[in-house]
Amino acid sequence: MAKLKILKIGDETLRRVSRPVDAITPRIQRLLDDMIDTMRAADGVGLAAPQVGVLRRIVVIETPDEGLIELINPKIIAYSGEQESEEGCLSVPGRYGITKRPMNVTVRALDRNGKTFDITGSGLLAKAFCHEIDHLDGKLYVDVALRMLDN
Ligand code: ZN
Repeated sequence: MAKLKILKIGDETLRRVSRPVDAITPRIQRLLDDMIDTMRAADGVGLAAPQVGVLRRIVVIETPDEGLIELINPKIIAYSGEQESEEGCLSVPGRYGITKRPMNVTVRALDRNGKTFDITGSGLLAKAFCHEIDHLDGKLYVDVALRMLDN
């Protein structure tokens, strides 16, 4: 396990579209482990593979209520409601913004053993699903923020 370098806004890699994972190899599982270490060391709620320079559709999320969630090739399959709340990103250090996101989001993904599962999140988790999946398409929350909270 290792802590990886987190790319910051302005790095071109963050703007590229990540490719799906077609085979879950030990290398992919090792990447998941390293992403978890990196997210925890940075005290983040989520981390997407492109943020550590790997253009693959892999996300890790950890919230106090839901614990650790690993998503490979995640897709949003349903959403409802809306929430306006504060959002930040490990790739945009020291800044926060207000975004509008769905209140409830259901994601379909593969787990680290290649098994398909669906997971529904509300509030913070719904926001994290949207934020992290956006990273896989080269998007940052600052692109969609209603306003930034700069001090
Ligand atoms: Zn982010």
